[in-house]
Amino acid sequence: STWEYAPAPESRDIANLRPSYRPFIGGEFVDGSGEPLKTINPATEEVLAEVGTASVSDVDTAVKAARRAYERTWRTMPGAERAKYLFRIARLIQERSRELAVLETLDNGKPIKESRDADVPTAAAHFFYHAGWADKLGYAGYGPDPKPLGVAGQVIPWNFPLLMLAWKIAPALATGNTVVLKPAETTPLSALVFAEICQQAGLPPGVVNIVPGAGDIGAALVDHPGVDKVAFTGSTEVGKQIQRAVAGTPKKLTLELGGKAANVVFDDAPLDQAVEGIVNGIFYNQGHVCCAGSRLLAQESVVDELLEKLRHRVSTLRLGDPLDKNTDIGAVNSAEQLARIRDLAETGDAEGAQRWTSPCPVPERGFFFPPTVFSGVEQSMRIAREEIFGPVLSVLTFRTPDEAVAKANNTPYGLSAGIWTEKGSRILWAASKLRAGVVWANTFNRFDPAAPFGGYQESGFGREGGRTGLEAYLDV
Ligand code: NAD
Repeated sequence: STWEYAPAPESRDIANLRPSYRPFIGGEFVDGSGEPLKTINPATEEVLAEVGTASVSDVDTAVKAARRAYERTWRTMPGAERAKYLFRIARLIQERSRELAVLETLDNGKPIKESRDADVPTAAAHFFYHAGWADKLGYAGYGPDPKPLGVAGQVIPWNFPLLMLAWKIAPALATGNTVVLKPAETTPLSALVFAEICQQAGLPPGVVNIVPGAGDIGAALVDHPGVDKVAFTGSTEVGKQIQRAVAGTPKKLTLELGGKAANVVFDDAPLDQAVEGIVNGIFYNQGHVCCAGSRLLAQESVVDELLEKLRHRVSTLRLGDPLDKNTDIGAVNSAEQLARIRDLAETGDAEGAQRWTSPCPVPERGFFFPPTVFSGVEQSMRIAREEIFGPVLSVLTFRTPDEAVAKANNTPYGLSAGIWTEKGSRILWAASKLRAGVVWANTFNRFDPAAPFGGYQESGFGREGGRTGLEAYLDV
């Protein structure tokens, strides 16, 4: 990281109302005709900012602006020229990284050390990476002159607001598409600062449009006949609605949905290292991670030792003010999400699992949930089957490698998995058997813009990142 954050009053002022907290359409911040929404700081429950939102007719204006920009400038612009804009955007994200990190932490609740060291730099990395592709598409193996799709309608969730935006916008622009993006209603702020960055970079008006609003505005965007491609990241439930909405249209669709990943620890694994991976897998970003390692599958012979080490390590995690650079676990993003986590955890008690809660102090104000580990979990329990999307780990056991793989695959999802073992042959064997888009070996939550990411089954389809991710935005 390039700066050390020290809490100061002016840091909270970063979120103060600014002219950009409005829809960004055709290169300008405009007064949307939707009802203004208040975004809450989940760590204090105070209103952080009031944001102007888009109406259905503003979505129409945004799609038309994107179409004009596509036809008049962006699709015919040489790739090397598009690359210059992407490089500029990447550098501006770096220049404004402190502001973006503080804003993301205030709006989302995630610890500042995560937004500072992961969300913001990785977002910049996505623009750098895709800038590098913009003038090389003819060499990517898609034929000499692959065509963009047109206008992309993109809808993103609240767990990684700026990073999910980068995953969506960078490949779309690199390949010559224009964009209308709807951020999540609880975390619209970093997307609007990103819109300021587009202005600063001199991006031609209409190439990127941001329409803040709730799910109805996402639905209006998905349904708009002027949209050629829909890219969605969010819940499996809404993903299915979107799939139905685009059925029977020529729109191309990619869906990045939920998960219930297994982190599989074999008895020969280096247990201390595995504990770090388990903690990172489930407690990173308060467990609001689609690929979170929310099921720990431990080999029976090591489960007691592993659980003891795990509880010891989890007891050292600091929960609290997300702006404190020593905080490990911040606030849950919303009161609704906190209620969902509490309800699902209670089903674990009712179904007979043993709950262990970290003894860390929990602030009285704000939406906080302490790190929680359920042991004695059976596959039939809801906490083993459903995505909790919070800092709650379900521990199951297995005896043989075959049983481990069978249990790991016993889920309707298939986004990611982790394996911990000293045996390389077992890693290769398990990776080929696990039905998951990503399998990490002796690590977890490792990302690179060059590596395609995406799911199997109810975790969605299509890939983001890498050369494969470009295909989602090209007519090959
Ligand atoms: P959500 O599905 O409730 O909302 C996601 C977005 O969709 C929001 O912007 C929302 O306003 C919008 N939306 C809601 N209804 C809509 C509709 N009918 N049509 C169009 N848009 C609509 O999800 P969430 O609670 O914001 O996010 C959490 C979920 O996202 C989790 O399930 C998580 O696993 C998933 N997720 C997946 C990935 C991935 O890459 N696979 C990454 C991050 C999050």
